[in-house]
Amino acid sequence: MANTMTENPRARVPSEIGELKRCMSCGECWPADPEFFAPAKACADGLSRRCLACVSERVWAFMPTAGG
Ligand SMILES: [Zn+2]
Repeated sequence: MANTMTENPRARVPSEIGELKRCMSCGECWPADPEFFAPAKACADGLSRRCLACVSERVWAFMPTAGG
């Protein structure tokens, strides 16, 4: 019955730090913030659909859409 209150580093934080945005490359959720997603004027929310980590790693094979 004892709740071990273990700190799960992969636990999903609901939204207390703001809106979360899911990276289309790695599938991870990050804060919808320029610190995590590169600015992209073409996108509705003004942020790239890939997180900066994926952008820097270039994890996708190619980009079918223009810009970026
Ligand atoms: Zn990513």
